Amino acid sequence: MTDNMSLAQGRNYLAIPGPSVIPDAVLQAMHRPSPNIYAGELVEMMPDLTADLRRVARTRHEVAIYIANGHGAWEAALSNVLVPGETVLAPASGRFTHGWAEMAERLGVKVELIDFGPSDPWDMDRIAQALRADADHRIKAVLAVHVDTSSSIRNDIPALRALLDDLNHPALLMADCIASLGCDRFEMDDWGVDVMVTACQKGLMTPAGMSFVFFNDRAKAKRAAMPRVSAYWDWLPRSEPDWFYQYFGGTAPTHHLYGLRAALDLIHAEGIEHVWTRHARLARAVWAACEKWAEGRALHLNVGDRAHRSHAVTALRLTGGRGTPLRSYTERHLGLTLGIGLGMADEESCFRLGHMGHLNGHMVMGLLGGIETAMAALEIPRGSGALEAAAAVLAG
Ligand SMILES: *Cc1c(COP(=O)(O)O)cnc(C)c1O
Repeated sequence: MTDNMSLAQGRNYLAIPGPSVIPDAVLQAMHRPSPNIYAGELVEMMPDLTADLRRVARTRHEVAIYIANGHGAWEAALSNVLVPGETVLAPASGRFTHGWAEMAERLGVKVELIDFGPSDPWDMDRIAQALRADADHRIKAVLAVHVDTSSSIRNDIPALRALLDDLNHPALLMADCIASLGCDRFEMDDWGVDVMVTACQKGLMTPAGMSFVFFNDRAKAKRAAMPRVSAYWDWLPRSEPDWFYQYFGGTAPTHHLYGLRAALDLIHAEGIEHVWTRHARLARAVWAACEKWAEGRALHLNVGDRAHRSHAVTALRLTGGRGTPLRSYTERHLGLTLGIGLGMADEESCFRLGHMGHLNGHMVMGLLGGIETAMAALEIPRGSGALEAAAAVLAG
C-alpha cells in the first residue's frame, strides 16, 4: 500500500450542511414515471402533505409551497408582507442573515442591520435598544435566522418574541429555519413566530428544489393590507387553492412531492420530538470529539457556548489555512465530503460539518473517524481521545 492510496471507493458520505443525505425511501419514492397532474393520487395527497408539513413546523396556520430553493422562500416571505420604503431589523450572527437582508434591500425595503459578527449569538440588549429607539414603529419585521449555517450559531427565537412582547412592538417575527427545521427544536405557534421559511434539502431530507413559507393570522393581516403582491410569490392562492394548479402557481414539482411524502413519513414514524433528541445527542458526540481535538490548539470550534450551538451543523477552524487541505484529504482518500467555510475571514482555515437529517450513530462515528484519519495523515496537532469521547456520548 502506497502512502497516498485512496480509500474513497464505496458509498460517498456527503457531510455538508445541506443538501443532506437523501434516504433510500425518498429516492425510491421519486423513481417513477410522471403522474397525472389534474386528478388522482398526486392531487389527493396534498391535504395530508400540507398537514404533515405543519406538524413538523408545529403550527396550525398556513403553508405555501414554492418550486424554489431557500432563497426563493426568502423572497416569497418578504414579498408578501413588506412594501418598498418599510424597514426591517436584521440581527446577524453569520452570512445568511446578511443574505436575507440584502434581498430585502433589493426589494426596496430599508434594513437596519445589527452585526454580531461570525462567532456570537444575538445580544438581546442591543436588539432591545434598537426596538426601543423605534418609538414610531417604522420597523415592520425582524428577520431572525434561527440557525445560521455559516457560523453554526443557534439563536434564541423565544427570547426575541418575549422582547417584542415586553416592548409592545408590533413588528412581525420572521424566522429562517432552513437549517434548523427537522433538526433543532422549533415551535412556530408556541414561540409566537409570524412567518417561517424553510427548504426541503436539509432536515427535510429531500433533493433541493422546494421551499415553504408558513404564516399566521398576523402575517395574513399584513398581506391583506399590501397595495400589491407579485403574482408568482403571492402566498394566498398557494395556501388556499381553488384547484390543484394553484398550489404551485403552475405545474407541480411532481417527483419532489413524492420524495417529500416519504421524508415526512420517516419523520413522523420516528416522532419529531425523537428527531430533535437524536440530533442533539449526535451533535454532542461531534462536539465532544472536536473539544478533544481542540486541546492541540490547531482546531477551534466557532461557537464557544454549547447553548448556542446548532444541532445540525458545526463550524470549525484549523489554523494556518489547513481546513481546505483537510477537506480535500477526506474527500479524495476516504470518500467523505465536508462543508466549505462560509462567511469567515479566513475561509481556507474554516470548514463545516453537516450532521442534519438522515443520520445515525455509525455515520457520526465515521465522520469523526474520517477527520481523525485526515489529521493524522496531515500531522495536525490534536488532543487525544476524541473518538473515545464521542463514543462515550453515544453510549451514555
Ligand atoms: C441553506 C440555507 C439558506 C439558503 O438556502 P438555499 O436553498 O441554498 O437557497 C438560507 N438560510 C439558511 C439558514 C440556510 O441554511
